[in-house]
Amino acid sequence: MSKFDYDLITIGAGSGGVRASRMAARTGAKVAVVEESRVGGTCVMRGCVPKKLLVYASSFAHSFGDARGFGWDVAEPSFDWGELIANKNAELNRLEGIYGRILRENNVDLLDGRGVVTGPNSVEVGGKSYTAKRILIATGGWPHLPDVPGIEHAITSNEALDLDELPKRIVIVGGGYIAVEFAGLFNALGADVTIIIRAGNILRGFDEDIREALAAEMEKQGITIHRECVVRSIEPEGDGYSVRLHGTEIIDCDKVFYATGRTPNTKGLGLEEVGVTLTDKGAVVVDEYFQTSVPSIFALGDVISRIELTPVAINEGMAFVATQFEGRPTPMDYENVPAAVFSQPPVGTVGLTEVEARERGDVDIYMSRFRPMKHTLSGRESHAMMKLIVDRASQRVVGCHMVGDDAPEIVQGFAVALKCGATKAQFDATVGIHPTAAEEFVTMREKLPDHDEDQ
Ligand code: FAD
Repeated sequence: MSKFDYDLITIGAGSGGVRASRMAARTGAKVAVVEESRVGGTCVMRGCVPKKLLVYASSFAHSFGDARGFGWDVAEPSFDWGELIANKNAELNRLEGIYGRILRENNVDLLDGRGVVTGPNSVEVGGKSYTAKRILIATGGWPHLPDVPGIEHAITSNEALDLDELPKRIVIVGGGYIAVEFAGLFNALGADVTIIIRAGNILRGFDEDIREALAAEMEKQGITIHRECVVRSIEPEGDGYSVRLHGTEIIDCDKVFYATGRTPNTKGLGLEEVGVTLTDKGAVVVDEYFQTSVPSIFALGDVISRIELTPVAINEGMAFVATQFEGRPTPMDYENVPAAVFSQPPVGTVGLTEVEARERGDVDIYMSRFRPMKHTLSGRESHAMMKLIVDRASQRVVGCHMVGDDAPEIVQGFAVALKCGATKAQFDATVGIHPTAAEEFVTMREKLPDHDEDQ
């Protein structure tokens, strides 16, 4: 009989925590998961899922416009934000129920409340103490708000998904994927959208050509991007707000939305008190097997600030279980993790950016820009851009990037090819599917003149 109440207590029932808990329980371990909010975590309740549902809603705005060129006489459509939010919330309730059921069916105890680590093997929830052989921290992250006068008036992605009404004018501060996605969906739904970024362009960390192509598409659709710009203050003005920028410019709007990064949820969790090392930004420091500086305490997902994506948290959870409960030490493989931005048009990307690839050696670049066939009749001024980055010595494709309709769906498949180490010759030997945009990835033959060779 174990001297602990549980073999594993997980704090946080989000993407990583739920997967790790139920997989551990399947090995026969006695498992509990602590959740202070809703089972499902950020992705299901405040992230990927509700966001994508709103992106779907907004995509109809384009479709109604496109339909005319194909002979459809579309009466002026009307849109009901309240109905969308109610339907979205009903779906989230359904998913929360499913997650709860998954835990129950896998014999994982759900401990309602805030979990605090009180020792290397103990957790307190709602004034009650529980012991476990291992503790897993999967508490995710929370929007970070900078110290700006009037910041208390700003909303974050949490509130943006649940607004009572669609704002007519919205200022979005930040240029990461969350900012860009919300900008696209609010703009398509009819809001006047202004993005304010400190950097020279949106989507820092993405391939430069992708950043430029997407920014151009967004600006064509009427989104204003203020570059190299900092907010000085936010002041209430009538029913809305005045956003003062450095310099003299003032932007009036109904909502100010900050998407300026996320902070790991480690505050008040008791980790430092028991000897768990955190970074200066509050992320939990772990080794390749997700073990912290306290051997019985582990952490994964957004709280370790590696790659903050749901499938990564899930895969980390499975690697943790394989290592700790199945006797198969399994580090997480962070190479070639594909990602998407559900912007309008969306982005799909896997592998290295051109800058990263050039740091490793000589490269060949293949690029294609075109107007998708659909828009020849829809009349929409939208262009797609696709780019392959090939390591010159090995001829392996090391980067695959796209801005354009269906980019995330297309790039998911090519991620398998990159994971397998496919060469450009193997891409070329693959027969395309015609007529698609995706076939462009297997028909690009002319490499761009090399910047180095130009000199
Ligand atoms: P989370 O899912 O954040 O779960 C952590 C859980 O821990 C939460 O439920 C929280 O309530 C709970 N918790 C925290 N502290 C305590 C405590 N002390 N006691 C008890 N419970 C606690 N990723 C994608 O892959 N694709 C996307 O399209 C995408 N879109 C996103 C859009 C938005 C707006 C946001 C914010 C994120 C998005 N993400 C997306 C990121 C994704 O949501 C996260 O990477 C993922 O949820 C991380 O999972 P996790 O298990 O680490 O933490």
